[in-house]
Parts: sequence; structure tokens; C-alpha cells
Amino acid sequence: MARIGVLIEAKGGEVKKTTLGALAAARRDPGEVYALLPEPNAEACHGVLRQYGADRIVTIRTPEADISPFPDVQAAALAAAIDRFQLDALLGVSGQAGRDLLARIASIAGAPLVLDCLDIDFPSGTVRKSHFSGKTTATLRLNGRPWILGIRPNIFPEKIDPRHGDIVLYEAPVPTSKRLVIREVKQGSSGGPDVSEAEIIISGGRAVGSAENFRILKECASVLGAAVGASRAAVDAGFASHALQVGQTGKTVSPRLYIACGISGSVQHFAGMKTAKVIVAVNNDLDAPIFQKCDYGLLGDLFEVVPALTRALAPAQAK
Ligand SMILES: Cc1cc2nc3c(=O)[nH]c(=O)nc-3n(C[C@H](O)[C@H](O)[C@H](O)COP(=O)(O)OP(=O)(O)OC[C@H]3O[C@@H](n4cnc5c(N)ncnc54)[C@H](O)[C@@H]3O)c2cc1C
Repeated sequence: MARIGVLIEAKGGEVKKTTLGALAAARRDPGEVYALLPEPNAEACHGVLRQYGADRIVTIRTPEADISPFPDVQAAALAAAIDRFQLDALLGVSGQAGRDLLARIASIAGAPLVLDCLDIDFPSGTVRKSHFSGKTTATLRLNGRPWILGIRPNIFPEKIDPRHGDIVLYEAPVPTSKRLVIREVKQGSSGGPDVSEAEIIISGGRAVGSAENFRILKECASVLGAAVGASRAAVDAGFASHALQVGQTGKTVSPRLYIACGISGSVQHFAGMKTAKVIVAVNNDLDAPIFQKCDYGLLGDLFEVVPALTRALAPAQAK
């Protein structure tokens, strides 16, 4: 029976929603699911991990109380845990932190690594992933074990699947040298959720016109609980920071809802958001290419439509 590990990302004892999606992906295999938890507030996460399908919850302890600022120490501890529990695969979220950590783990374990996975077929040992900036998808066969897989955020919905969730304490042997230390993590300029993991995104393009005008998108985002995104034209013009850019040379996103405001719908932008479940476009040009690619199109001026949307949704948020 296969043993599938899931790298649990949590903050202050709260498991990230995207990580619950990785647990759901692991549960598609009939084997045992091991939740690997290198978090200092591990106990606070146990309940939710049991509820979402963890057969075993491995709390990783090291001589250092909190290893989160040391990516190479974290990777060494996780690679040692894979070895100790003879895991056949480790699944994580292909977000900012996951991409870095999973690559380090694969390098230590000498294991095959695939990031940005869209699907996993455990019986055939294949994964589907986005290729060439989203222009194609590739199906890859994995040779060798353990598989180290980063799943695109929000591709697998979380699923309640209560399990026993036995607690296992694992004292990981790790290197004492710390070659890398994360000293500070700065909040992105939007102040909202990270665009690559958000469930709802409202993005602005060149037509937004200025950094000041992005305020109307931020107001709508705060009512929707959304992240703010941007096209490259908006970023190049200095209206938004590069951290918000969606597309071929920006971030790849898979939200439940993507609202593109004043964005024409170039192939490069589309490459980054085409796996969104529902795409809404707000544009004042009926011939804009985005209207050929969206689920719902709103023909109108974004400076009228977006504030109207905010006003309409604000009462629902207040409830
Ligand atoms: C190698 C390469 C990589 C690239 N990577 C990226 C990338 O990662 N992400 C990305 O986004 N682009 C990328 N681009 C750029 C891409 O080709 C487009 O130039 C860019 O996406 C256009 O941005 P935009 O839609 O905001 O602007 P435009 O194409 O100028 O579109 C503006 C839209 O706003 C509409 N509009 C105008 N006024 C209003 C109004 N008042 N209300 C509503 N609608 C209005 C217009 O009708 C138009 O459709 C890349 C290009 C290259 C060559």
C-alpha cells in the first residue's frame, strides 16, 4: 500500500486552505496519508488535519524550536522524514513557499520533482502539468521514488474525509549549519491575500490608468475577500507591483472566480489565469479578445461597473 506524504503549510496554527486541497489530492490514492507538519504550533492543526483525511500526523521536531526561517534545515528535516516513513510521494502546494521547499527536498532526496501539477494519476504513475507558460499541458511519467509533487493552488477542492489522524512525533536529524536565513517577509503592496493562492481575484489592466485608480479594485477586493491582480501593461506602467502580475511572466493562478477589468485578454495574460473556474470580463470594447474567453462579459466602463459591484456586494458582506 502506498504511503503519501503531504507537506502541511500553516500560519499561526491555522492550516492553509490550499494545503487541504493537497490532502484531497493525496486521498485519491487508496493508501495511507501522512500529514508532515514542521510548524511550531502543530497541535492547533491536528483537528482540521483529521477532518480532511490525514491517517497519520507527523509532527517534525528539531533541536531548533522554529525552523521556518531556515529553508535548508526545513528541507533536510522533511527529506529525513520521507526516508524514515518510507513515503512513496510527497505532495505540497506549488505556491511561493512550496516551490522553493519542494525543489530543495527533491534535490536532497535525489527524487523526481514536478511543480504546477494539474492532475495526478497514481495507478499509472503519471502527472499532468502546465507547460510553456500554460500554452500546453504535458503528461509526465515519473521514474523513481519518492515523487515530489507541487500542486497548483485551488486545483483540487478540499474534501471532508474524517480519519484517525494518529499523532507521531519525529525528531529529525538536521544539519547545524544554516546557509540561508529568512530575515523578513514583507506583505505585498495590495495588503490582501497572495494572488497565487487566492480563491477570488479582481485584476486591473492598462485601462485602470494609475496606481491611485487601483483603489477602486482594492475596495471591491476587500468586499469580496479577494486578492488584487494586474496585467503586465498595468505593472509596466507602474500602477501595480510585479508581485500582482498575472500571466506568462507573472503568476499562474487558479481561483474560483477571476474578474478582469480593463484587460484585453492577450495570450500571455490568459496563460496565467485560464484555469480559473469562472472568468468575468469588464471591458468597454465589444471586440476585446477577452470576451471570446470569458464565462460572463460586462460591456461597460470599469470606473462605473467596479464601484457599482462594490456597492451591490457590500451589504452582503455586512451580514
Ligand atoms: C514575452 C511576453 C510576456 C508577457 N507576459 C505577460 C504577463 O505575464 N501578463 C500580462 O498581462 N501580459 C504579458 N505580456 C503582455 C501582453 O502581450 C499584453 O501586452 C498585456 O497583457 C496587455 O495588458 P492589458 O490587457 O492591461 O492592456 P491592453 O491590451 O491595452 O488592454 C486594455 C483593455 O482595456 C479596455 N478598456 C479601456 N478603457 C476601459 C474602461 N474605461 N473600462 C473598461 N475597459 C476599458 C480596452 O478595450 C482594452 O481591451 C507579455 C508579452 C510578452 C511579449
